[in-house]
Amino acid sequence: MRRLSLLDTSLRDGQKSLGINLNVNEKLEISRQLVKLGVDVIEAGYPAASPVEFEAVRKIAREVKGVVICGFAGANEREIDCCAAALKEAGRSRIHTGIAVSPLYMEKKLQLTPGRVVELAVAAVKHAKKYVDEVQFYAEDAFRSDRAFLVQVLERVIEAGATVINIPDTLGYATPWECSEMISYVMNNVRNIQRAVLSVHCHNDLGMATANSLAGIKAGAGQVEGTINGIGERAGNTCLEEIIMTLYSRRGSIGIQCGAKTRELAATSRLVSRLTGVPIPAHKAIVGSNAYTGNPASLGEIGPGENAPFVIIAPDTVGLPEDDGVLQIQLGPQALQQRLDKLGYSLNKEDLDLVYQYFLHSADSKGAVYDQELRELMGEAGVEQRGILIKNISITTTGASRATATVTLDLDGDTVTEAACGTGPVDAVFKAVDLLVGERVCLEDYMLKSVGRGRETLGDATVKVRYGDNGLVIGRGVSSDVIEASARAYANALSKVKTMIRENAAQARV
Ligand code: MN
Repeated sequence: MRRLSLLDTSLRDGQKSLGINLNVNEKLEISRQLVKLGVDVIEAGYPAASPVEFEAVRKIAREVKGVVICGFAGANEREIDCCAAALKEAGRSRIHTGIAVSPLYMEKKLQLTPGRVVELAVAAVKHAKKYVDEVQFYAEDAFRSDRAFLVQVLERVIEAGATVINIPDTLGYATPWECSEMISYVMNNVRNIQRAVLSVHCHNDLGMATANSLAGIKAGAGQVEGTINGIGERAGNTCLEEIIMTLYSRRGSIGIQCGAKTRELAATSRLVSRLTGVPIPAHKAIVGSNAYTGNPASLGEIGPGENAPFVIIAPDTVGLPEDDGVLQIQLGPQALQQRLDKLGYSLNKEDLDLVYQYFLHSADSKGAVYDQELRELMGEAGVEQRGILIKNISITTTGASRATATVTLDLDGDTVTEAACGTGPVDAVFKAVDLLVGERVCLEDYMLKSVGRGRETLGDATVKVRYGDNGLVIGRGVSSDVIEASARAYANALSKVKTMIRENAAQARV
């Protein structure tokens, strides 16, 4: 079987999703899980974009081994130098540089002639080659380029030393048959293409990123680029979990394999969702909470030449338990750990203690906790470790639309209390938290949904806040009390804002 290489760009292209602000440690944690999952290349970031981004790539390069660490750089010496510096301590490293090749982009975005674009492309690859053996070249907006020009650019950059050629559908504009045709065209017309690996990088603007990528892979691409849960700007990138499971489930007919351990998919997906604050829709393919409901898993799954009519994937193949188990309140931390293990979470002792406290708190008010609720608690426990913890909330309401909230927080170890009035209880709580934390943010969006079953369910709140010019920050909170869930979500968003401020200040001193 032909072997496909997986490049994960969750930390570079995926991070461009509105509201995602991962700190360096979160990026490290995701990188380590990506190694467990078995991706071949981690695109860790764009070092020239900011000092924080540089530091993240440098740390990942230094600490994450057993995988190629790739950094992104525009086609100029400054960005390539910066990228190379960030990658210096990597075991194996790759620089991903490139330039736009469509008439529209060359004219309007770059204001360069095609001749100049070729010169810059060649110079960039040659410069990157001074630092690393593996140089990946991207031909931005390739699908709207002139084919003869594209062939010319690719031949020249391969001659200059590019080892991977990325053909991105930058705007998510292509169809599967065009992707297939494009990869075939490049393979048949670029004279020295056998010296490089072709890569597909698709976007989901028309909902076809996975289909487009697979078409490119089938036509001969040796590498696919994507993100976990499909995070990314606009409609997102190709979902790596969908590619991995399609190759696995249909291995008999596709005949291409990758090095991923499918059983790590659930844990990877949950971790990325928890740390980015981007929830996974219930119906999401492969990793959604409803994706396997009603499947009689005991019938097995479709393998090569098999015929199992009721199920195409058994949930444990992606690392999910087959039943939605119930945990009773009397369970000790060990039983909780076993259940979390089964659900795909691995925790250190400290984190387990914290989650156990949440579990007891939740089980106390409800009597039992379902797996789905446990997952939500995991998200909650994970995000609440950072800085701001809600200790107590009391609300008094007067008349139709006035409320007073008294909120007690644990703020970096100090216990502080403040009261505020608002148009309703949630508004009053947010105002009290604002007073306590002292950061000026603007609430852009607020969502509340329920998880679990029946009336004794959990409230899951998501808030989006805007801070300065740094864009949107997402916070999530879960509790059996919806006001508390809302407060936790808001506190979570403010924790992230504070981390952002701290990281930026730390960078400014260097
Ligand atoms: Mn992209």
